[in-house]
Amino acid sequence: MAKIFCIANQKGGVGKTTTSVNLAAGLAKVGQRVLLVDLDPQGNATMGSGVDKRQLALSVYDVLLESASIQEAAVYAEKSGYHVLGANRELAGAEVELVELERRDQRLKEALAPVLGAYDFVLIDCPPSLSMLTLNGLCSAHGVIVPMQCEYFALEGLTDLVNTIKQVHANLNRDLKIIGLLRVMFDPRVTLQQQVSEQLKSHFGDKVFNAVIPRNVRLAEAPSYGLPGVVFDPSAKGSLAFVEFARELVERIPTM
Ligand code: ADP
Ligand code: MG
Repeated sequence: MAKIFCIANQKGGVGKTTTSVNLAAGLAKVGQRVLLVDLDPQGNATMGSGVDKRQLALSVYDVLLESASIQEAAVYAEKSGYHVLGANRELAGAEVELVELERRDQRLKEALAPVLGAYDFVLIDCPPSLSMLTLNGLCSAHGVIVPMQCEYFALEGLTDLVNTIKQVHANLNRDLKIIGLLRVMFDPRVTLQQQVSEQLKSHFGDKVFNAVIPRNVRLAEAPSYGLPGVVFDPSAKGSLAFVEFARELVERIPTM
């Protein structure tokens, strides 16, 4: 049965989508069957996996509104090596439409149930807000992977996210927990980043993944080629770090 992880952080531009697509590709590379769910109307994870968001016949929008199943709507991103349940701007409307509906925060969870046997991992790329979309992600998941930059306000932002996760845990999803914090866009030459990294480790202990994702321009270039960095330039430092992270995650599964 698939493990379901949200990639979440309510800040924008912290590396959620980069983590989602490269972790998906890294897991695929080490032999795991992966479904990547794009829950952000920007559709960056969709495009970055090599699926054209403008050409989607069906998307996660149709799944949330129960007019399509995941089997019908997911597509195989061949070069990336995993399935994608894509998103585009239509999804922004779901936010409003869902409010009116029953079981509005359970839609994704219910849709995922029939496909869990077909995957080892389901990764959910969340938008940068606590919206009905993110709530659907958090209600579906076994845990949250939090990408974060080691910057001055990082810990502060984390408090909000931790509180949100506690609330969802208490009221909606008893399974939910933080799987781990992933240090991304890391530059070891910056003293402040080293300090924040040490702070993170002393606050959160082994909740901080050993893998560290460096700042690496190849990871930033890859989306314009419609590929995860891990596929676009497998030997780039950032790509190697994501494959290492994928291995670490697979190793941690039995202890979760
Ligand atoms: P989010 O999904 O949280 O908004 P993104 O993954 O889209 O964040 O990343 C924000 C920007 O930072 C993008 O332009 C992306 O290419 C770039 N970026 C992300 N991770 C790295 C990295 N490790 N090295 C260099 N650039 C990165
Ligand atoms: Mg994003």
